[in-house]
Amino acid sequence: MSIIKRISVQSYTYTLDDFGPNISTYTQGVSIEIPKFVVTIETDDGLRGSYAPHFGATQHALAQVNQVAPSLIGQDAEKRELIFERLKSVLRHFDKTGIAALDVALWDLAGKKYNASISALLGGYRERLPVYASTTPGQKSPGGLDSVERYADFAEGCNAKGISAFKIHSFFDGDPKNEIGIMTAVRDRVGDKMKLMTDPASSLPSFMAAVEVGRACDDLGFFWYEDPYRDASSSASAHKRLRDFIKTPMLIAEHIRGFEQKADFVLMGGTDILHIDPELDGGITGTMKLAHFCDAVGMEVQLHTAGPMHRHCMSAIPNTHFYELGLVNPDRVWNGLQPPIYADDYGDSVGDVGADGCVPVPTGPGLGVTYDWDKINAWETAAVVFE
Ligand SMILES: [Mg+2]
Repeated sequence: MSIIKRISVQSYTYTLDDFGPNISTYTQGVSIEIPKFVVTIETDDGLRGSYAPHFGATQHALAQVNQVAPSLIGQDAEKRELIFERLKSVLRHFDKTGIAALDVALWDLAGKKYNASISALLGGYRERLPVYASTTPGQKSPGGLDSVERYADFAEGCNAKGISAFKIHSFFDGDPKNEIGIMTAVRDRVGDKMKLMTDPASSLPSFMAAVEVGRACDDLGFFWYEDPYRDASSSASAHKRLRDFIKTPMLIAEHIRGFEQKADFVLMGGTDILHIDPELDGGITGTMKLAHFCDAVGMEVQLHTAGPMHRHCMSAIPNTHFYELGLVNPDRVWNGLQPPIYADDYGDSVGDVGADGCVPVPTGPGLGVTYDWDKINAWETAAVVFE
């Protein structure tokens, strides 16, 4: 037995150059400060597991981690299911996004204990993960994706590097004609060489605008259609109705939190493909439960955003298609959502994709990546230790 004796929660901030005023928009010469955190769990037999979330390192999740971490001291680090159940109960009034960082640190610790990758512990299904390029949103200011033409150029460039699928995040101006304009330009440029998807990210102003763009997805042979209009995809019944108007498979539930709530959304007919965010939906334990549930009812899943943990999960999920390489941009070599904290060659940029259009699953023990602790320590803004 490995008993948890210490949990360290370290907050840090790094500077993201050429992005702003938010993390999604390329702006040359502007920079923003991004706050993140890393969790490290140590046991009485000298084991240590860590996880530094990417997209999921929000201040909401950090507050929940600090709330529940003391309750894990003295627990068996290998009872991840028991810990998942307890945290789910303790956080039942909230969105439960604090579970993931702790859960993944425990999986990393287990991998180090048995000298096995998390993929191996999960029972691997594949070693190479086909990616799709998931764009940053478009923008009015110069640079990045500042025109319809630039979207088409970028899709073509990604395809030339071996990437076989491309997802549009548009200008988010709420005009379905602009959305359809980008979709048409990209399809015209790449023909049938790429699978195409579009994600208005809840920016369309009405149900009928969602129908209009959905019908364009049908006409242009899009692979999926994601979170179209302003309800933020919170209504299963609305999307069941929307599915009646269009043929393109819908990818919904990015904004639904909770293990049971997501299963309900599926059973209510709210989506064709379930979107799971491993950093917001209970870490590896929560993600694998949902993926297997969907497999049993003949549904595919997509994992939201990128990271080493996402790769291990995807390696063990048969019922999924693509790894989301996002958010990428023609003027940005480095993926803005990935904190620059790796001391090895781990990366989620277009340049990290192999000629086969795939990225690898890390093979070392646990997460199989090496954090640059000197950098993280230098960027530290706060540290809390529970023991
Ligand atoms: Mg999305």
